[in-house]
Amino acid sequence: MGSFAWAPVQNKVLGCRGYKERHVYRVAGSPQYQFHRAHNWQPTPVRVSAISEELTAAAEEDNFRFNGVQIDSSQVYGDIPVSQETLSVHGGEREGRPRVSDSLTTPIVQTATYTFKNTAELIAYQEGRYGSYEYGRYGNPTTRTCEEKIRILEGAEDCLVSATGMNSATTMLLALVPAGGHIVTTTDCYRRTRQFIQTVLPKMGISATVIDPADMHGLEQALKKQRVSLFFSESPTNPYLRCVDIPRIAELCRAHGALVCIDSTFATPINQKAISLGADIVIHSATKYLAGHNDVMAGALAGRAESVAAVRSMHNVLGGTIDPHAAYLMLRGMKTLDVRVQRQNQTAMDLAQRLEDHPRIARVHYPGLPSHSDHAIAKAQMPGGFGGVISFEVDADLWGTAKFVDSVRLPYIAPSLGGVDSLIEQPTVISYWDQGPEKRAEYGIKDNLIRFSCGLEGVEDIWRDLVQALEAVG
Ligand SMILES: *Cc1c(COP(=O)(O)O)cnc(C)c1O
Repeated sequence: MGSFAWAPVQNKVLGCRGYKERHVYRVAGSPQYQFHRAHNWQPTPVRVSAISEELTAAAEEDNFRFNGVQIDSSQVYGDIPVSQETLSVHGGEREGRPRVSDSLTTPIVQTATYTFKNTAELIAYQEGRYGSYEYGRYGNPTTRTCEEKIRILEGAEDCLVSATGMNSATTMLLALVPAGGHIVTTTDCYRRTRQFIQTVLPKMGISATVIDPADMHGLEQALKKQRVSLFFSESPTNPYLRCVDIPRIAELCRAHGALVCIDSTFATPINQKAISLGADIVIHSATKYLAGHNDVMAGALAGRAESVAAVRSMHNVLGGTIDPHAAYLMLRGMKTLDVRVQRQNQTAMDLAQRLEDHPRIARVHYPGLPSHSDHAIAKAQMPGGFGGVISFEVDADLWGTAKFVDSVRLPYIAPSLGGVDSLIEQPTVISYWDQGPEKRAEYGIKDNLIRFSCGLEGVEDIWRDLVQALEAVG
């Protein structure tokens, strides 16, 4: 045939049979080929048939799988122990991921489906002898790399990334709780999760016991009286930043065969490793800190291999698949996760202390403060820091508090949290306005409550702004 192709032959990933031939093939004389030659890019032209055989043999010898499934961090970094900062940058993104043109960054693989060269290759794939993907709803290399990074940061066996945090939570509940099952959750809870538990799960005969985050007696009673399949709580919670005692809960639940799932969105894996504290599953609204820039929606679930596999099967049916571009934005965001979160921890702690001493503030809710009801628990299980969100009550009514919100200049008035821009919200107005005073009282949402998500602005700038806004309340 006489056609030539360039291929970075040192790269075993591209050496996987099929991948190279179908994706990296560049015919000598083609515009891309000329471009690479003109810029003196390294790949040497070699005969396709020759590399094909050579690299196929190498790939088969190594039993190499390019989708990263078999890669663990010890392989990625050799014997060198590395810190969390390093894992945030490199986790999941060194060896074991597909590389194109020796690109430093993880490629966005924009495809809905994957091809097979012939029936033999397809059967090899079905039998796990050929690592590839089949269809976009079941997996994508960009997304898989994202899952690897989270898996490594959480110290989990596997991870599943999906389109939104709500999708991760609802898919997890549908997959892990049997029809007619019972779950235990806590009072202070993301509103849509509560709505799903109260209105959708009962259609499958699934009931729930709702306890205060500190009510271990309530949990014990529920475990004794019901066949509990799952305990599910945020920690810290939204908006009062309550923390549940994860090791204690895990111990109680394990004795009764119930799984423990922690929504660690507010904590991030930098501040809290829910799995090593005893949780079976950890979920994130990756929209918040993991992605970190208020520009993308995503969800993640990590934990034991068999639990993640069960959720993945359900996910493959429900189809809350993340777009590969969104997965890439998340990967990019996570490279700075450690530095962002450390800075946000510091800013939040600093502001919480100053607000607590301010005459116009009635109360500050921050787990890093000794005044917080769960401070001891938070100290024990959040060694990295207490997170970048603070809640506080202004010494004013609904409208006085609204005046404060309207007077700040730096933070945006917006829901969400965890991004580089500071955000401020009055939960009564932004999340619970349609509920009326009685429901709000039932959920413990006070009219003078503010939730503040620290961004990366200078702490003195934020503080000056908050002080002038508090003065404007009058
Ligand atoms: C935002 C949030 C969710 C929902 O996540 P989405 O990405 O918005 O779907 C779930 N739990 C917590 C604690 C959240 O903050």
